[in-house]
Amino acid sequence: MSALQLCWLRNDLRLSDNHALWHAREKGPVVVVCLLSPATWQAHDDAPIKIDFWLRNLASLSHDLQALNIPLRILNVPAWTDAPKALLELAKKLDARSLHFNDEYGIHEQQRDDAVAEAFTAADLDCQRYTDQLLFNPGSLLTQAGSMFKVYSQFRRLAYRELHRNTPACLPPVQAQNQAPCASDPAPTELDDFRASDSQRALWPAGEAAAVARMDLFSEQIMTHYDEQRNRPDLDGTSRLSAYLTGGVLSVRQCLHAALACNQGEFDSGNAGAVSWINELLWREFYKHILVCYPRVSRHRAFRPEMDSVPWRQDADALKAWQQGKTGFPILDAAMRQLLATGWMHNRLRMLSAMFLTKNLLIDWREGERWFMQHLIDGDLAANNGGWQWSASTGTDAAPYFRIFNPLTQSEKFDPQGDFIRQWLPELSGLKGKQIHQPVKADLFSAIDYPAAIVDLKQTRQRALEVFKSLGESA
Ligand SMILES: Cc1cc2nc3c(=O)[nH]c(=O)nc-3n(C[C@H](O)[C@H](O)[C@H](O)COP(=O)(O)OP(=O)(O)OC[C@H]3O[C@@H](n4cnc5c(N)ncnc54)[C@H](O)[C@@H]3O)c2cc1C
Repeated sequence: MSALQLCWLRNDLRLSDNHALWHAREKGPVVVVCLLSPATWQAHDDAPIKIDFWLRNLASLSHDLQALNIPLRILNVPAWTDAPKALLELAKKLDARSLHFNDEYGIHEQQRDDAVAEAFTAADLDCQRYTDQLLFNPGSLLTQAGSMFKVYSQFRRLAYRELHRNTPACLPPVQAQNQAPCASDPAPTELDDFRASDSQRALWPAGEAAAVARMDLFSEQIMTHYDEQRNRPDLDGTSRLSAYLTGGVLSVRQCLHAALACNQGEFDSGNAGAVSWINELLWREFYKHILVCYPRVSRHRAFRPEMDSVPWRQDADALKAWQQGKTGFPILDAAMRQLLATGWMHNRLRMLSAMFLTKNLLIDWREGERWFMQHLIDGDLAANNGGWQWSASTGTDAAPYFRIFNPLTQSEKFDPQGDFIRQWLPELSGLKGKQIHQPVKADLFSAIDYPAAIVDLKQTRQRALEVFKSLGESA
């Protein structure tokens, strides 16, 4: 009889197209193991809504695994440094010969995984690692000089070439086994300190079937118009799949194939919506490759070293106003309230809000990065850091420092009727026409319970230009 295989699942909570699970099952009977480490989640600023979502997906997976006679074991570890010992003890207890897991890319995750692999090898047990979260292994798409790209468009060009040459296929769902090799542990459905409200839970249904249902809805009804509508927060114009991708409830290959199916197999020509959406999947890929190839971004450092010396301002009141959606700029305040209420924010607003904090308020991007991480259901170190450093002009391929978004013109352009603002700022719902974007101009502004703008956009823009220009000149 084949030896028992242990499969350690982390942010890959699905049965379909899961490399570690599929390969483990090919080799013999499988037991799945998951680790719970609340102290580590807290240390990494993971949002309660994100952990709640992960736990709900784990409960759903546990149910699906049970139907296949694949047991789920759950281990509590105080810190990730305890992972090697806990996993080794379980392997010995079950007499498993191999451990399988899919690679993760943060610096702490890599240290944890290397330590686990070393412990298994030292104990004469097999350890197999797989590329699963990404289309390409980080470090495999390089410039001719052998280094990682710093410019996205060049990275994308090579990615397209490789995708044309060898499109990664989806693996089939894992097969049932005749009988469960051991008993399962009950999956916790919630944990203290990591709770979401019922309304938040209703917004983000858990489980692989829910992820596939949203993917299908997006492919059938939204994707073809994605390029025209993706910048409009007042419309349901994007996939809203980021939380499922972050938790690995859906794979990037499943997303890619859904887009190809909508576009007669084309990557970079054909339907503009599908092409534009594949482009976003490649931004996700790019930032994860950056994380691995330039580890300083995992250590809270600016990607461009000369940008580590920006003289950021300390302004606790302004930071708080930004966090709570009380800046007096409706589009920004509506965005922050959307984040606090739902755990998600539209991409255009993430850029706007990040640029306002780092340019108009001249507050350190790390403050914003942390706040986002503490509240996002899709919080992902690579994408969040990439987005923040792009907006702060400290990152790879970043927005040039002199291109500072104006929240008022952006508001008029991307929320033309003010529907998005009205949804999140009911106190402004009575304002007509353009006043919704700039309520201070309304006749009865003093009667509305809404703050005046906390800064002058023109002056603060000029201040940012001077600060960044002087850094550019001295670098
Ligand atoms: C300041 C800032 C912080 C961000 N933080 C995160 C984060 O923590 N987690 C996260 O997943 N995304 C983050 N993003 C990227 C982007 O805003 C979200 O991925 C997107 O809004 C999620 O909505 P969606 O699933 O409808 O995206 P869609 O527009 O449907 O895009 C499809 C998928 O592509 C990926 N994607 C899209 N845009 C980007 C991008 N710019 N960078 C990397 N991946 C992208 C996501 O996985 C997304 O689900 C951030 C962007 C900015 C500017």
